[in-house]
Amino acid sequence: MSQQVYQFSNTVIDKMKAYYANFLITPPQGALFRAKTNEAVITAYKSGKVLFQGASPEKAASLWTKDAKTAPTQATYSNKAKTNSYAPSPQLFSSNHIGSDEAGTGDYFGPITVAAVYLTKAQISELKRMGVTDSKALTDLKIRHLARDIIQLNIPYALIALRNEKYNQLQKKGWTQGKMKTMLHHHAIQRLIKKIDQSPLDGILIDQFCEPVVYKKHLASEKEVLSPSTFFMTKAESYSTSVAAASILARTSFLKQMDILSEQTGITLPKGASQKVDQTAAVIMKKYGENRLTQIAKVHFANTKKAHAYLN
Ligand code: MG
Repeated sequence: MSQQVYQFSNTVIDKMKAYYANFLITPPQGALFRAKTNEAVITAYKSGKVLFQGASPEKAASLWTKDAKTAPTQATYSNKAKTNSYAPSPQLFSSNHIGSDEAGTGDYFGPITVAAVYLTKAQISELKRMGVTDSKALTDLKIRHLARDIIQLNIPYALIALRNEKYNQLQKKGWTQGKMKTMLHHHAIQRLIKKIDQSPLDGILIDQFCEPVVYKKHLASEKEVLSPSTFFMTKAESYSTSVAAASILARTSFLKQMDILSEQTGITLPKGASQKVDQTAAVIMKKYGENRLTQIAKVHFANTKKAHAYLN
């Protein structure tokens, strides 16, 4: 059975529902409507995603594609894109697999968070329908909502946060951010593998942040080795729903930590590493002294130095 997925505005979805009024059947949980025609089963979701499945989904979809906001399905990836032996085969994206991703690495304030998520084939389809996709295309609010939905489905995951104090200690010890990320991904994945026990696992996909040889070198420096069937690719969240889900959980965890740190500091900590961040760091230094930054920021970032310019 083939399928096509498109994104539509609410107006178009309302039009579709009216068009299929005589073909409506009971929708699955979370769907706005489901219609069954001779050509296809059409399911519309609150996220604006509409799924066309069945005998000729293209034919059914062709009525609406001119009004679609996005191209069909997810990005395509071919074996030709392989640049190294660690690149996954495209089959992995629809197989039972673990995906991992991180958040907070480019943000001066707040921790680095890493999540690993395990999805079965069936869960991959389910999460796609719910709108779990590349988090870069989603707002923070939407990401938080999707994270709640993912957790409600009892999907196995592992989440690790590297607090700023520990981050700064490791950084002083000579660890690069690459090494920190490597060990966080590794531990999250190991924890998750233990959690899923005997469930079928066809592979592990890490959203690539460094060359796989460098990743292995970092592991070796801590006497660890790469798990079998581990693959790497950049922009993995555009291809793998497990990585997309991991990215959503990591980002949500980062956002929650930022809320907590902001509340404790009594100052809303901005994300990123902009000038606004420099100014906020200066306010914190004035109020609490520079030491306070070691608990809430990645102090080796240039922002710390730049913040001093605001202290007079
Ligand atoms: Mg990433």
